[in-house]
Amino acid sequence: MEKAPAPTGIQDQIARVLEKTPRGLLINGRWRDSSDGSTFEVENPATGEVIASVASATRGDAQAAMDAAADAQESWARTPARVRSDILRRAFDMVQDRRDDLALLMTVEMGKPFTEAQGEVKYGGEFLRWFSEEAVRDYGRYVDGPEGTLRMLVARKPVGPCLMITPWNFPLAMATRKIAPAIAAGCTMVLKPARLTPLTSQYFAQIMLDAGLPAGVLNVVPSASANAVSGPIMADPRLRKISFTGSTAVGKELMKVAADSVLRTSMELGGNGPLIVFEDADIDKAVAGAMAAKMRNMGEACTAANRLLVHEAVAEEFVDKLAEKMAALKIGNGLDAGVTVGPLVEAKARDAVEQFVKDAVDRGAEVVVGGGRGDGPGYFFEPTLLRNVPRDARAMCEEIFGPVAPVITFATEEEAVELANATEYGLASYVFTENISRGLRIGDRIEFGLVGLNVGVISNAAAPFGGVKQSGLGREGGAEGIAEYTTTQYIGIEHPWG
Ligand code: NAD
Repeated sequence: MEKAPAPTGIQDQIARVLEKTPRGLLINGRWRDSSDGSTFEVENPATGEVIASVASATRGDAQAAMDAAADAQESWARTPARVRSDILRRAFDMVQDRRDDLALLMTVEMGKPFTEAQGEVKYGGEFLRWFSEEAVRDYGRYVDGPEGTLRMLVARKPVGPCLMITPWNFPLAMATRKIAPAIAAGCTMVLKPARLTPLTSQYFAQIMLDAGLPAGVLNVVPSASANAVSGPIMADPRLRKISFTGSTAVGKELMKVAADSVLRTSMELGGNGPLIVFEDADIDKAVAGAMAAKMRNMGEACTAANRLLVHEAVAEEFVDKLAEKMAALKIGNGLDAGVTVGPLVEAKARDAVEQFVKDAVDRGAEVVVGGGRGDGPGYFFEPTLLRNVPRDARAMCEEIFGPVAPVITFATEEEAVELANATEYGLASYVFTENISRGLRIGDRIEFGLVGLNVGVISNAAAPFGGVKQSGLGREGGAEGIAEYTTTQYIGIEHPWG
C-alpha cells in the first residue's frame, strides 16, 4: 500500500467548488448567518486540514426554520403534484450536470474515493428521478362499502412539516432519500445534516432552490450542537414527523422524545450484517460480493457486511482469494487516481476500528491482511482480514464501521441461520449459494430487512430500504418511500342508494 500526493490542479477545482457552496443557514429561501454569528469547522479527513467554516444554527435559528416550514406547508400541499414532480426532475438533471462538484465535496469532507463519490451522486440522484415519477401516481381510492350504505373515499395527504436528521457516511444519498419523497408527497421540512459533512447538503439545497423549490419548503440548519436543532423543533406542536438516519443509540433517544408528541417516525439505524457463503457458492462471485459489501465506503456503511460467515469446506479458498483482493487495495487520499480506500471520517472512528481489531486478536483471532493504522496525517486504517474470530469478539457483536472483515466458519445451514440472526440488528444481509431454492429459504429464515442474493450491493431508489429489529422502522425508496410522508384520510360518504 502506498500513498501518493494529490495531483496538481485539483486544489483549484476544490477551491472553485467550495467557493460556490453556501456556508449559511437556509431559512425561508434565504441563506443567512446564524443568529449569534457562530460557525463550526469542516475538516478533510485525508489531511486533517480545515476546508471550510459553516454557520452553526442556534435554538432560535432552529425555531425560525420550523416557522418557515410550518408557514409553507399549506400552500406547498396545495401545489399540484405535476409542479412538485417537475421540480424534482429538474433537480435530478442539475445533479447530473454538477456531478463532479458534488463528488469532490464528498471526497474532501468525508474521505471516500472520488469514483465512489461519483457513484453516490448517481445513486443519491436517482431518488430525485424516482420520486418525480411517484409524485403524480400517489393514488387513493373510492369504493362502495360492503353493506351498500356508504361510499368510501380514501385520500393520501401530506403528513406535514418534517424534521430530517442525516449521518455523515453518505452525505448526498441520505439527504435525497428523505427530501425527494417528502417533496413528492407535499411536505415541508427542516434538514439537519451531520456536523462532519454539511457541505454536500448545502450545495444540494442550493440545487433545489435553482430547480424552483419555493421558499420555506426545504430549510437547512447545520449546527455544532445537534440538540440545539432537534430540541426546539421536536417540541413544536406543528411538527408532524421525524425521519432520522444514524446510530441506534441516538435513534432510541429521538424516539423517546417523539413519543411526547406522538410524532410519526422513520428510523434508519445501525446494522451488523452477515454475509453467508455456502459450500455450493461460486467463490469468485462471493469474494467480489464481499469486497463490495465490506469495503465500499471504507466499511462505513449501515449495509456493510460486518461478519463473514463461511462454510468450513470453502473457508480456505474464500479467505485466500479475499486476502489477495484486500491486499491489492490502494489506500490514500480519495482524490488520487487509483485509490480505493480513503481515510475514516475522524480520529475517533479510526481509533474505534483499531480497538475492534485489538479485541479480536486478544481473543485469539489471526490477522491475515492489514491490522494497523496508516502513517502520516489523516485517519487511515488498513483493510484488515481476520480469521478464526471467536463468536464473542466485539467485531462479531457490534457494528464495526470500518475496513475490517472478520471471518467465522460454520458447518450446517442451521448454524449459519442461527449465527446470522444472533444480533439485535436486522438491516442488510448477503447470501451466496448457486442453489436458488436454498437462497430463498435462507431469505425466509433470516431476520433482515434487506437480503442480497449472490450480490454485494443492493441499494436502489426503486427498492424499499430499511431494517427490522433495532435497525429501524419504515422504508426509504420504492413505492413505500412516499408512504412514509403521507397520512391516510377516510371520508365516509352517504350512499345514493343506501
Ligand atoms: P449518529 O447517530 O452519531 O449521528 C447521526 C445524526 O444525528 C447526525 O446528524 C448527528 O449530528 C445527529 N445527532 C447525534 N446526536 C443527536 C441527538 N442527541 N439529537 C439529535 N440529533 C443527534 O450517527 P453517525 O455516526 O452520523 O452515522 C453512523 C450511524 O448511522 C451508523 O450506526 C450507521 O449504521 C447508521 N446509518 C444507518 C443507515 C440506514 O439507512 N439504516 C444509513 C447510514 C448510516
